[in-house]
Parts: sequence; C-alpha cells; structure tokens
Amino acid sequence: MKRLIMPQFVYTGGTFFKEYAVLTEDDRIEEVGPAGTLKTQYPDAVDDYWENLILVPGTVNIHNHCFQSLLRGIACDRPFLEWRDKALYAYSNKFTRDHIYQGAVFAFSEMMRHGVTTVCDFFYLHHFGVESDEIIIQAAKDVGIRLVIARTMYDWTGAPKGYVETVAQAVDNVRAIQKKYNGKDDMVRIIPAPHSLHAASPEMIQAGHELAKEAGTGFHIHIAEEKFQVEDAKKRFGGLTHLEILDSLGVVDETLTIVHGVWLKKSEIEMLGARKGNLAYCPSSNMFLADGITDLPAMLKNHVTIGLGSDGACSNNRNSVFEEMRMAALLQKANTCDAMCVNYMDVFSMGTENGGRILSLPIGKIEKGYKADFVGITTEDMSMQPVSASLEQLLPNIVYSMQPSAIRKVMVNGKLTVNYGKNLTVTEEEVLDAVKRVMRELEAE
Ligand SMILES: [Zn+2]
Repeated sequence: MKRLIMPQFVYTGGTFFKEYAVLTEDDRIEEVGPAGTLKTQYPDAVDDYWENLILVPGTVNIHNHCFQSLLRGIACDRPFLEWRDKALYAYSNKFTRDHIYQGAVFAFSEMMRHGVTTVCDFFYLHHFGVESDEIIIQAAKDVGIRLVIARTMYDWTGAPKGYVETVAQAVDNVRAIQKKYNGKDDMVRIIPAPHSLHAASPEMIQAGHELAKEAGTGFHIHIAEEKFQVEDAKKRFGGLTHLEILDSLGVVDETLTIVHGVWLKKSEIEMLGARKGNLAYCPSSNMFLADGITDLPAMLKNHVTIGLGSDGACSNNRNSVFEEMRMAALLQKANTCDAMCVNYMDVFSMGTENGGRILSLPIGKIEKGYKADFVGITTEDMSMQPVSASLEQLLPNIVYSMQPSAIRKVMVNGKLTVNYGKNLTVTEEEVLDAVKRVMRELEAE
C-alpha cells in the first residue's frame, strides 16, 4: 500500500523542509519531495497527515540489555562490582521464560515510546538456550520494534550459570538462530557478541569473529569499560591493553563494534579507526557506573563510526537515544572545555544513521530505499519552542531541550506503533501490571 505522509517539516539530507511529504510503499520509503508534486504524481496513495509534527528518522539504540529493565533502581550508587553482584548476579538465575518475556516487552515498549525504532540487544540470559532468544524475538514482534540480537557468547564460569556456554554450544546456537532469521525476517537479525575480555575466552572471541565473517555481519564486544578490567587483562595477556589483545587475536577489522571503549590509548583509537572499526557509545551508563569518559573527539578524528546506546536500564536508568544524544554532547564539552568538540548534528547522526551503518541495515535516514521508521515530534510542546522562520532551532531543540512528551507518533516498518504519545501495540496498564507481578515473584524467592 502506498501512503503519503505529510507532516509539518521533514528532516532529510541534513535539513528540514516545509511542505514536504514522504511516500512509503508498505515498509519502505519510495520518494521524499514537495507534498504538492507527490500528491499529483501518486493520486492513489493514502493521505496521512501528521499535523504539527516534525518527521525525523527513528532512533537506533545500538546497545541495550532488555532484561535489565526489571532491575532498575536496584543497587544504585555502588562500585561497579558491587552493583554487578547485587543487581545482575543476584537476580539473573531466577528469571523464568515469562520473566524474560515481560522484561523485554517492558524495555522495548518504553524505548519505543521514546522514539527508538531499532534496538540492538546484547542478550545473555541463556538459561533456555536459543529458546531465550526466541522469547525476546516474540516480545519485539509483539511490541513492533526492529530487533538486532547481539547474541552473547560467554564462557567465564564465575558468572550466573544461565550466561555460560561452551564455545561449541555458543557457535551452534548463534548459527541455528541466524539461519532461521537472517535474510528471512526484516524485523530480526542476529549477530554474534562475545561478551568481553573478562567473560569470553580468546577462543570464544575468535569464534565470534569467524561467525561474523561467515554470516556477513558485524560482531559486538564490551571493551575497556572499567579501568580495573584493563589492568586485569594486562596481567593475563603479557602487558597488552584491550584493543592490543583483540589485535593479537586477529579480530580488529570492519566487523568489530566495541562497546564503551573508555580506557583506550591514543594508539588503540588510531588502530580502531584505521581498521574501520565501530564504537557503541553509552554516555549515561558510563556516568552512572562511574566508568570514566570515552575520548570521543579522538574517535571522531580517527573516523571511527559511532552509534549511541542506552545500555541496560539498571545502569542509566533511562531508555532513550534522544537522551544519549544530549548526554554525549554535554559530557564531551565538559570534559574537553571545548564547546565545538562535538555538535548537535554529530550526535543526532550517531543516534540515527550511524546506528544503521553499524548494524548494516537501511535505517536511520529519511531517503528513498530506507525503511519506513519514523518519529513524529510536535512543535506544540514547550520543550520544542521557540522555532523561528529559519528553522535553525529545530535540531538543537530535539537534541538539547526536547522532553519525551513531545514525541507523539512512532512508525516502524510502515506500521504506526505510537500515536498521541501512547503505545498502540501494547497497553501500558498491562505492561505495568506484568512488571509489578514479576517483581513480586523475583523477590519472593
Ligand atoms: Zn552492556
């Protein structure tokens, strides 16, 4: 079905246009241009007025852990290992199939309400083998969000047993689920994700890289999040730092997306850029957990592709990529005392098209051939005013002042999922009831 979306302004090619429209055919963008011209050209298209709304691409959350939404507010303001033990490790083994499902529905619904149309979920609750992955795929389908599972490969046995698999099991499971979804389902994609240098052995990391090459995908891995993790790895790997270790394993190339990258030397950032590697940057999480500050100007200078992630909702504790745009810019300016080290256009691209590039999906831009994933933002919200005739405030307002109340509509893959600020695919009351019930069950044990 052809649909002609006619908002107040359309953001395309780095600029806002008035009296523009977007023609979609089912799940894809067919044309972007002057509304009058498109209306004449396609008289049979269904008119869809998005009055007083600015049409921008849906945001891409490049790093999340959906089950952690259920652990929000637990063990806050503690050192990293204490937080990990009291929040993640204390609860992970208790999760039933239903808890995994409800946690994912909760996380995905909340982030969609905040304008996330694609999420890359770094998922490691593997108590039920690939059935765990199938459960969060079902949740994503029920919510209507586009899901990339960074399917975790984890063989450090000091963690909750549900995380742990042997290299052979992890490889078989990633392959099995990739075979079922990749290239067959537009809304789901599976990529390998050896957890980190502390939770995945060198063999596991190399197996993850091999799988990425084999399936033509990227792979994700947590790198240099905490300073002590780099020091620990140095002891185990003959004085090498995190990216140097990955290099010695032969896995630093364009398939690599490092998550965090806080404690990297200049030479490691240069290597990441030269090999066309990527960064999943999670500024709020880095602040929340007192990790430190990733050197974003150096990443930009070395042409590292940077996407933005909320990380799990128990280390943020919000679930919005617009929030991460603001945090990324403000944190970097404060850190460098340079107001121009990163700008609102940079961070907006990170939260949209760069996420699409990192995930190799046609998302994050309003252009012909891209997916019909949109967010409609009202200018009739106080947080979005003022707007002068030049429209120069629109993008800075979206990045720096917008509140979630300004997000009125969300469309994913050509389907409306949020309207008048309410989720259409799930009922908020039902999601909240399920969250309350699950928490009672998790705490009763
Ligand atoms: Zn993470």
